[in-house]
Amino acid sequence: PKRIFSGMQPTGRLHLGNYLGALKNWVAMQDEDESERIYCVVDMHAVTMPHDAKALPDAVRRVTAAYLAAGLDPEKNVIFAQSAVPAHAELAWILNCVARLGWAERMTQFKDKGGKDRERVSVGLLTYPVLMAADILVYKATHVPVGDDQKQHLELCRDVAARFNRDFGDGEAVFPITEPLIQGPGARIMSLRDGTAKMSKSDPSDNSRINLEDDADTIARKIKKAKTDPEPLPDSIDGLDGRPEASNLVGIFAALTGGSKASVLAEYGGQGFGAFKPALAEVAVEYLAPISDEYRRLIAEPAEIDRILKKGAERARAVAEPVIAEAKAAIGFWG
Ligand code: ATP
Ligand code: MG
Repeated sequence: PKRIFSGMQPTGRLHLGNYLGALKNWVAMQDEDESERIYCVVDMHAVTMPHDAKALPDAVRRVTAAYLAAGLDPEKNVIFAQSAVPAHAELAWILNCVARLGWAERMTQFKDKGGKDRERVSVGLLTYPVLMAADILVYKATHVPVGDDQKQHLELCRDVAARFNRDFGDGEAVFPITEPLIQGPGARIMSLRDGTAKMSKSDPSDNSRINLEDDADTIARKIKKAKTDPEPLPDSIDGLDGRPEASNLVGIFAALTGGSKASVLAEYGGQGFGAFKPALAEVAVEYLAPISDEYRRLIAEPAEIDRILKKGAERARAVAEPVIAEAKAAIGFWG
């Protein structure tokens, strides 16, 4: 059977990249009969970088509200906060002793977020992908729908599972070799300020991203200010080579309208950004308005969100408990 797992960090407001790269695909899969689907708000990952402890519980509620506003149904999917299921931390310790230091040090996210000064970086940032492997494997998830930036972490998860199976599996596979699901033209949305950097919650510039909760004026202003080059749009996708900002805006248009970059250029090729940007703003506003309306309604009901998270955590614990027991027995723990 197919078991799907994914998650997002409560490190800021969800943006168009999170939506098009991951959340939209989660919603699209929720009526599948053959799969079980588990989605987490990964607050344990969010403390790997400096964070505001007092604001974290509300940040979890906000990400949950965004999941729900995007259409994720808490009956059809298990929705919960990572820290409410202790098995994630228990398996992470075991897998920290299975993963090799060199694997973790090679991760580009660690190098990007950690910078040069190792004295200032938490050990947790280094072992972030091992905790992520534990998140996935504690449910024996077979498929993980994520954006393109998580590909390398998924490879590490597969390596960890294979090594655990080889060293402790006693001839049998304890963990599955999980498949990434990285799909569609939204798999890698770039910053509006820099076409070579991905759109991120943690980018200090709010103008670098379109948040799911931005109102129409904010969306229009951010798109108007988005970095571009002076050339008109090309007629075909080859003409986007070496034009990362133009390529990104055309890609966003394509993802929002269900088209391809080629079909967008067939319509807008030859036009300047003075014409294209307002068209893109209109498409984005129309697309996001129902999501942001629903988000505002939900965020005013924190008790309802907490109820959903609590029920989700119970369901998640029931799936994880036999798996963590199996992993502990396999590695030789007394308890
Ligand atoms: P942070 O800056 O705190 O790491 P983030 O924006 O990278 O935040 P995450 O919580 O790390 O968001 O990732 C949540 C999901 O969104 C993952 O599946 C990730 O691959 C996806 N994602 C993040 N950024 C993008 C993007 N720019 N384009 C497509 N998918 C993205
Ligand atoms: Mg990230």
